[in-house]
Amino acid sequence: MSLSADPELLAAIQEIKAVDHHAHALPGRMPEPAESERPDPLGKAPFAYPVRLRVTNPEYVEAWRALYGYRHEDMAGDHVREALRAKLRIMEEKGSGYPSWVLDQAGIEIMFVNMPSLGLGQTGPRFRWVRQADELLFPPAGDQGGIQAGEDNIGPRGAPPTLDEYLTSVTKVQLERWKAAEAVAIKFGMAYRRPLDVADIPTAQAESIYERRLQGRALSAADDRALQDFLFRFVAREAGHLGLAVHIHTGVGADPYFSVSGSNPMLLESVFNDETLRETNFVMLHGGWPFEREAGVMLIKPNAYADFSAQTFLRSTRTLARVLEEWLEWYPEKVLFGTDAYPDDTPLANWEEKVWLATRTSRQALALALTRMIEAGQVTRPRAEALARMVLRDNAVALYGLGGCRG
Ligand SMILES: [Zn+2]
Repeated sequence: MSLSADPELLAAIQEIKAVDHHAHALPGRMPEPAESERPDPLGKAPFAYPVRLRVTNPEYVEAWRALYGYRHEDMAGDHVREALRAKLRIMEEKGSGYPSWVLDQAGIEIMFVNMPSLGLGQTGPRFRWVRQADELLFPPAGDQGGIQAGEDNIGPRGAPPTLDEYLTSVTKVQLERWKAAEAVAIKFGMAYRRPLDVADIPTAQAESIYERRLQGRALSAADDRALQDFLFRFVAREAGHLGLAVHIHTGVGADPYFSVSGSNPMLLESVFNDETLRETNFVMLHGGWPFEREAGVMLIKPNAYADFSAQTFLRSTRTLARVLEEWLEWYPEKVLFGTDAYPDDTPLANWEEKVWLATRTSRQALALALTRMIEAGQVTRPRAEALARMVLRDNAVALYGLGGCRG
């Protein structure tokens, strides 16, 4: 088995302009004068990070060299401060063009931003919006106030008196507004709050729970879950009618006490099989790792897709290549590229450096997986290049209808 990728294939893959369909990028901004003088230019991660995400990962040096012209090979204090000054200078110079400049450095044409809203320099066609939708699963109870925060939310405050009216407010007020604001997908991070097995709950049962909730009566945990389950399927169905894809966080979470076992994408099987959800396309974000095999096998469902975002910085090129090999010999048209780049209080290991690193890892892992598949006689060289193009951009262009891409 090859330990390294065919250099010509890798070179061809480096040229493909990618669609990063899952990231949490920050908008452009003017840096504060004091920022480059902070005592800890590397900053602190929110919890004990796995190896590749730690700020001490030497791969970040390569990102600084590529992005900011860093001239050193080490992470010595004075040197690191130079990198930070160079970065802040570029941010200032580029202004609102900074987010696009970052994409250019990583060879990304289009990025989907999963944030409360898009900001300065995050405009179409290069930046698209993915709206978090978990709040829709938790309707207001009694007079606790309306659907929770989100500054774009000017929906009704207070609880609608019936489930039916709540459902209307969800579709008319929320989903349609997000669609009008050019969202391409909605995202559920519900694995952070509960397991992913979503039962099919009859409407009458959901109505009765909704009413009791409104009256302020104590609900059992099972009733709470049942109402969320009902609402999830409702929202997913309506999203499908509106042409919004549904992204679901699967696999390990960004919290050491996250319930990994409840994030197994196999738990979503009854949702994928639901006859009333056939118009909705689902994406298993992060490819379910450590359940990447389960996520892969779910690609047999016509409306299920998977990306390998986050695996791009949690795992090595070599292990990611093994995942890709398994997925690409099964349903390659359902595999999507995403970085999951996100911000931290680590100024030199922030969303920009994560985008660069994750994109490089993805291209290398794809090249390695495809080199092995060519050697094994599974694919021809031209087919290997086509597969790389599908994963890095064409599958996303087809799924989200991103017409007019430069290519
Ligand atoms: Zn994410």
